[in-house]
Amino acid sequence: MLPEVLERIERAAQRAGRDPRSIQLVAVTKGHTPEEIRSRVLAYGDFPLGESRIQEALPKMEVLQAHWHFIGPLQRNKAKAALRFELLHSLDSLRLAETLSHHAEQAHLQLPALIELNLSREPQKHGFLLEELPGAYARLRELPGLKLVGFMTIGRQGSPEASRTIFATLSRIADEYGLPERSMGMSDDFELAVEEGATLLRIGRALFEPLSS
Ligand SMILES: *Cc1c(COP(=O)(O)O)cnc(C)c1O
Repeated sequence: MLPEVLERIERAAQRAGRDPRSIQLVAVTKGHTPEEIRSRVLAYGDFPLGESRIQEALPKMEVLQAHWHFIGPLQRNKAKAALRFELLHSLDSLRLAETLSHHAEQAHLQLPALIELNLSREPQKHGFLLEELPGAYARLRELPGLKLVGFMTIGRQGSPEASRTIFATLSRIADEYGLPERSMGMSDDFELAVEEGATLLRIGRALFEPLSS
């Protein structure tokens, strides 16, 4: 339930001496209908909504007025559709970035984007490796259609200690590069992410799980 998640965010922020208003909940709505999204999320406020597949997101965007974020792997042939989102969390390759920037320039806009980092170094995950970042960043910052505003990562499933280290690393990198946003933390690890400096939490299951009676 969303109110309970907000309370947990607030308590974690207090533990870490952070202002809860510096942390934004992005409700991940993949797999859920517009009706469910209205009753489980939008009934509580105008939270940004995160989707991870373009084909699933576009029909929902037609019927729900909201602040949409794209959080999943983006294929280059769907890059143009990403311009309809307020924030892209998953900038994970230079080729994608170049394609996005090209489309954005043609549309006379700049797409706000987060650089995705694969800090757990799991091969199935997307994102730049830490050692690739300096070179990639030098190129990314030159792309006129992108506005880089921060970084995104995914913790290591089933390993809170590893996730804490990953989140702390992301915060350190965001500081180093002087970019404000840190998108990290999901249903199983968002409190850790708050403690380690997250500004955007991508939470799905915890908002939609069955009501406990
Ligand atoms: C699905 C998804 C989430 C949300 O995960 P939950 O475990 O449902 O909270 C967050 N980030 C990304 C990239 C996702 O695909």
